[in-house]
Amino acid sequence: MAKKGKQGKDSKPAEPVRMTDLLRAPTGPIDLSAFDPRGTPGAPGDRATTEAQFAATAPALAELQGRLYAEGVGGGSRRIVLLLQGMDTSGKDGTTAHVVGQVNPQGVAITSFKAPSRAELRHDFLWRIRRAVPKGGSLGIFNRSQYEDVLVVRVHSLVPESEWSTRYDRINTFEREITDDNTRLIKVFLHISKEEQKQRLLARLDDPTKRWKYNPRDVDERGFWDQYQQAYQDAITKCSTDVAPWYIVPSDRKWYRNWAVGQLLLETLQDLSPQYPPGDFDVTAERRRVEAS
Ligand code: AMP
Ligand code: MG
Repeated sequence: MAKKGKQGKDSKPAEPVRMTDLLRAPTGPIDLSAFDPRGTPGAPGDRATTEAQFAATAPALAELQGRLYAEGVGGGSRRIVLLLQGMDTSGKDGTTAHVVGQVNPQGVAITSFKAPSRAELRHDFLWRIRRAVPKGGSLGIFNRSQYEDVLVVRVHSLVPESEWSTRYDRINTFEREITDDNTRLIKVFLHISKEEQKQRLLARLDDPTKRWKYNPRDVDERGFWDQYQQAYQDAITKCSTDVAPWYIVPSDRKWYRNWAVGQLLLETLQDLSPQYPPGDFDVTAERRRVEAS
């Protein structure tokens, strides 16, 4: 039956915008100042509408992640790594809490990368990253990542340029390797403004329940804002590939950020379409055994 709607008879319902298309870093040199950190591209509406939408998609996210987990238990090797990068206070922890809070924690493996230990420094920079790629069926979260080795390391000259400048290619090779090995990488840059960071740092000082998050070193790092933006621009420009694209998520508004990252994960899971394993036993025979037991 043809539907009579308010729309003209030739207009089709609008295709839902795919955030994996909309937020994907464009090819060519990236200029971060051209991306508005307060923007809300693709959002279904204002804050209330977007928050409601985020809550409404939670069951679908949980169901798909549950399927992925089951697939892993059944021997499947497919997995996802959601990699989060961004300036201090950009919301790496908050995004982890909000997005991961919607799925079964059993299937989640969170790794926070800090300054490398002496043991880690004895190895190649990718050594600890490789070890953190989770087993089949998992949703891995990287809170910081291999990119620190071309970000903080570059900004503070922790190794010479002749060394860090080779790392972009090595990161691309590594990412191709793990994506060939059934890992889907979702690389998210949480893009905040310098002013928003100031407000968030002040909030950490003023609110006693947030004071534990305050790190005086963050103010020193803030002094290198422009160098970090430059380093991020180069990392995104050089390492956004077809197999492992970067997504630039405007993050001054937390409600948008949470929704957008949730969508990136949801769309990736939908693409993967994980399947419950059929079971490697004779169901009828097992049924009889259970009934007789
Ligand atoms: P946080 O995420 O607030 O706990 O801070 C972790 C700190 O570890 C940040 O200051 C990062 O810059 C630092 N970090 C992470 N990875 C590296 C690395 N590969 N080299 C040096 N510092 C790092
Ligand atoms: Mg911190």
